[in-house]
Order: sequence, then structure tokens, then C-alpha cells
Amino acid sequence: MISVVKGPRPQSLEEHEDEWNQQHVQAVEKWKQEGETGPRPSAKYNQKDIKMALERDFHKKCGFCESQYGAITYADIEHFLPKSIHYELAHTWKNLLLSCKKCNMSKRDNLTKIVNPCEIIDPRQLFSYDNELKGKIIISGLTPEAKNTISVCDLNRDDLVDKRAETTLMVRSAVKLSKLGDTDELDEYMSKIEYREYLGALRFFNLIV
Ligand SMILES: [Zn+2]
Repeated sequence: MISVVKGPRPQSLEEHEDEWNQQHVQAVEKWKQEGETGPRPSAKYNQKDIKMALERDFHKKCGFCESQYGAITYADIEHFLPKSIHYELAHTWKNLLLSCKKCNMSKRDNLTKIVNPCEIIDPRQLFSYDNELKGKIIISGLTPEAKNTISVCDLNRDDLVDKRAETTLMVRSAVKLSKLGDTDELDEYMSKIEYREYLGALRFFNLIV
């Protein structure tokens, strides 16, 4: 997890945040009073400018696992406090994050206290990365909230562990070539990495680099 600095509220929320929250609260409470028959009232946060503002702030990465999703799928606008329970915050800019579908599915309606990437300054005080066999990197929590985050968002799922290993291996190879002073081979190696990144084959993680 990295620290995310949120930029200014997008225009639609500048104009409608309170109004849309009030309308949504009224609609959900009416729906509840009527026995929750029919579909739950939908909120209006899925606006283009909100998505663009979150992509700007999160650099098109999931706020929890850091996966880059752009080349393969869409990300979800995630509510840090779940909108199913805190529906009064469904359009509150401070409560909106960007999340990959896997983290979103894992997190669901969680109310356990977890780390908000928009409220941390130095993730190294919360998480550590431990080497395991064959270069696999397992993330550990240094505080109860960090431990909850790993468990709730499933941050040691196999695909993430594999991608961390892949990234670590590439960085180690680059460092080795650099130490050998073989700049031609290093240049060639780095251009291959950049090309893979360009193709979207390398989708995950800023870990270590
Ligand atoms: Zn994720």
C-alpha cells in the first residue's frame, strides 16, 4: 500500500455532494420503511468526473493492493466505509477510493478497522515485506489495523505474491547488471522491462522500486 494524496473534489461533487447524499438517505430510508421490497435505491457517485479524479489521485492503481488495472479491466469506485451501511456517505469525496475488483470483492461490507491509503504518511511504519522461499514476498502488518487490512483485502493472495516475486527478480537482475558495470546489457534489459510494461503484461506493483 502506498500513501495517496487526494486532490480537489471533482465538479459534480462540488455542486451536488450534500444534495445527492440527502436524496440518497431519504430514498434508502423510504425503501427500508417499505420493507426493502424491490431493488435498493442506487446512488449517483458513478460519474465520469469522479472516476477521472480518482484515477488522477490513485494513478490508475488499486488503493489497497497497488495493482495497475488499466490494460485489462475497469476499477471500481470503492467506499472506504461501505455504502450499504453508511449510505449517508455514498457521495462523500473523502469516503471514495479506487479499488480493483478483487480487493473490492474481498472487502465487501467490512466494518473492521482497516488502513485508509488516503490517511497514511509512511506505509513502512504499517507494513513489512518478508522474503520467503523462491523469492516470494509476503506482506505483514505491523499494527492491528494493518493486519486487518491484509486479511480483509486478501493482500497475500497468490497472484499478488507471484507478481511481487517477479518484480523483485527484475530489480535484483538490474542491480546485478549495474554492479557488473555492463551498461549495454543493463540498457537492453531495462528496455525489455519497459516494453513489457507498455504492453500491459506487467501490471502489478511498485514494490521496492
Ligand atoms: Zn486491489
